[in-house]
Amino acid sequence: MTKTDPHRPTLGTTATRRHRRDRLAEMLPELRAQLEEQRRFRAEQLAALDGHADGTADETDARRAVDAAIAEAARWALHEIEAALHRVDEGRYGVCVTCGEAIGLERLEVLPHTRYCPVCQPA
Ligand SMILES: [Zn+2]
Repeated sequence: MTKTDPHRPTLGTTATRRHRRDRLAEMLPELRAQLEEQRRFRAEQLAALDGHADGTADETDARRAVDAAIAEAARWALHEIEAALHRVDEGRYGVCVTCGEAIGLERLEVLPHTRYCPVCQPA
């Protein structure tokens, strides 16, 4: 996902770095709100799944397996969201944890919980 805009200097000048930091600071309240919304959603999803697993006889193994898979995905998402909120609090948000490069703001808008730049994103 590397798109080069010939009218803009490529990475690294002080001006673009400062510009990005200012933009990120502007976006941060909205990103944080999104993360908190997602955290609420995941917590509710997990609570609903918990309540659902009531052990009644009509609950099939297949159904339980699906619920378990959903719960696992929800727990993983919740973990990622909480880690992202933690990075916001620590002032480390928006930096790739693997290579240390700034993560694109467009990417953060789409994936506010991400901890990787597109290059380091595991498959
Ligand atoms: Zn990276």
